[in-house]
Amino acid sequence: MEVLESKWKSCGSVLEASVRVLLKFPLCDRCLGRLFARLGRGLDNSERGRAIKTLLAMLLSEELLSKEELEVLAVNGGLPVHAPPGGEVRQCYVCRSELDRVIVELGEKAVRRLREVGFEVTGFLVGVKTGSEFEKREREVIGLLGLDTWESVRREVKRVVGKYISKELSIPPDFINPDVLVIVDLVSRDVYLKPLPLLLRGRYVKIGRYVSQLPWYRRNGSRKYKLSIHDICAEFSKIFGGEDFVLHAAGREDADARMLGDGRPVAIEIKNPTRRSFSSARSQSVELPPWIRVEVSGRTTREYVREIKSRSARKTYRVVVFVAEGLTEKDISKISSLSNTVVHQRTPTRVLRRRRKDVARRRRVYDIALNVLSKYLLEVLVSTDGGLYVKEFISGDGGRTTPSFSEVIGKSAEAVLLDVVKVESML
Ligand SMILES: [Zn+2]
Repeated sequence: MEVLESKWKSCGSVLEASVRVLLKFPLCDRCLGRLFARLGRGLDNSERGRAIKTLLAMLLSEELLSKEELEVLAVNGGLPVHAPPGGEVRQCYVCRSELDRVIVELGEKAVRRLREVGFEVTGFLVGVKTGSEFEKREREVIGLLGLDTWESVRREVKRVVGKYISKELSIPPDFINPDVLVIVDLVSRDVYLKPLPLLLRGRYVKIGRYVSQLPWYRRNGSRKYKLSIHDICAEFSKIFGGEDFVLHAAGREDADARMLGDGRPVAIEIKNPTRRSFSSARSQSVELPPWIRVEVSGRTTREYVREIKSRSARKTYRVVVFVAEGLTEKDISKISSLSNTVVHQRTPTRVLRRRRKDVARRRRVYDIALNVLSKYLLEVLVSTDGGLYVKEFISGDGGRTTPSFSEVIGKSAEAVLLDVVKVESML
C-alpha cells in the first residue's frame, strides 16, 4: 500500500505543479501539456494539457483554493472552475495562443518546399532555429517549476513537423545521413531547405604509374600528370548531377607508385546532387582507362570520412631497390635486420620543395621480406605504419631518415619502382 501511496503522490504533483503554473501564467493546452511531455506515451502535448485542465476542473473547488485563485485559473487556463470575470480567457503566455496554428502552417510549408525541390529526397532531418520569443518565455515558466518532465518548444516543433512531412511525403526521417536539412524558423515563421552532400564510399586501384591522386599543376599552369584519380571521381559526381565534389582518401601514394591489391579507401563527397539513390548500375557506367579502377560500393556517412582520414592504416609496399655499387651477402643480412625497427624521419627534401613544414616523425617498420633479383637489384616487401616515406627509408635522404637501407650498408641505395600492395582497413 505504501508503494501505491508514493506513486499517487507523483500524480498529485502533476496537478499541483499545473495549478502553481496556471496561477501565474496563462497557458494554452499545448504549452501546459509540453511541461509533462515525458508522461504518457503516444499523446500529443495538447491532449496532455487538455486532460490536465479537465481533471483540474473536476477536482478544484473553493475548499481547495480561494475564490480569487479559482478566478485566476479560469482566465489563465480556460477552466470552467469559476465563471471568468468578463468571460475572457487570456492568451497563452508562452505562444500567444499561436503555436497550434504555427505548427500546422510550418508543416505545410515544409511539405510544399520539399515537393518543389529539383532533387530526389530519400531521407530528411528537421532542425529548429534557436532564438524565438517562445523559447525565452518558456524558460521563465520552466524556471518557476523546476520540472524534469518537460520538452522544449523547439523539440516539439521539430518532432511534430517531422512526423507530418513523413506522413505526407512517405519519406522517413534520417538522423544519421539525411539528404536535406529542413530548417524551421519560428521567428520568421518560414521553412528553408539545406541540401546535404551525398557521400559515396569506394576504393581505387591504379595499375599504371604517373597518375596522381589530385591534379598536379606546374607553375606555368600545365599539368604534370595527364590523369588523376580526382578526374575519374568527377565522372561520378556528374552521374549524380553534382555541382562540385571533394575527394577524401585514406592517405595517398606518390604519382609514380602503383596502388595495387584491394585498393585505397576513398569517399567522394558530391555537393548539391540532383540524384541520390545509389545503384551499382550507375557507378558502372563510368568509363575508366584500363589502368585505373574506381569502385563505388554505396552511400556512406561523415563518420566514415573522418575515420578514413584520421587512421594511419598499416601499409605494405613492394619496392625495387637499386644499389649501384652492388650487393653482398652481408648487405642483404644488414637490410633484413631492419625488420621491427622504429624509423625517425624528417620531412623529405623532395616534399619540402612543395613548401611543406619540416617536421620529425617516427614510424614503425614491422617486417621486411627480400628477394634478390640481381647483384644490383633487390625486390623488397615492407610492412609499416601508415605515413612512412618509403623512398627515403631506402635512400636515407642525406641522413634525414634514420635508419635507412643506405645507412646500414654504407652504400647508396635507391627505390626505383614502388607499389602499394595493401592498405589495411577495418572498414
Ligand atoms: Zn501556448
